[in-house]
Amino acid sequence: MIFLDAHDYSDLDYDKLKKQLFFNLSEKKAIKDLQVQPDAFIPILFSLKFGGDWSFKTQELEAMAVKEKITRYNEEEGEGYTLERVTLFVNPILKSMEGKVMRLEKCGDKNERELVERPFRVKLDAEDIIRAELNPSTMEITLKKIKGPLHFSGSAAYGVSHEMEHLAGCEHTGKFIWEFKYRIE
Ligand SMILES: [Zn+2]
Repeated sequence: MIFLDAHDYSDLDYDKLKKQLFFNLSEKKAIKDLQVQPDAFIPILFSLKFGGDWSFKTQELEAMAVKEKITRYNEEEGEGYTLERVTLFVNPILKSMEGKVMRLEKCGDKNERELVERPFRVKLDAEDIIRAELNPSTMEITLKKIKGPLHFSGSAAYGVSHEMEHLAGCEHTGKFIWEFKYRIE
């Protein structure tokens, strides 16, 4: 156990606060430099801070962020890291979908998993697309504006479809786990 006196404690607090303020300031600066509406950036911030995919909608704007995790592992050194790639779409347009995948999904605002159908591949464009990459090994978050359309398959495509559904405002009324049957083989 480590005992800190009041003086040390406030020093640590101050240091943390200073770092957080600096982080928030550089966040603001990045948003300004990228020339996106600050509101449009919200899903990217949520995705980076809390994980997962997010969408955000106001009267003027729709934005969604889809997260992919890419582990880079060096077999010889036995070391690696998981890169988090978040792609933000400002006013996204779904160009095409391909395939049908049945799967169980749990949405943040519901308390049960639901059986849904998702496309296996999607092609997506947007007014603005920003790609953020968080690298845990360098502790850097790089941001860049990229051009669409972009292709996603598998879990990122399910995420796109899920968030597009939120933006469209249609709620799924699929089937639930308790509608499944157990079968002993
Ligand atoms: Zn959801």
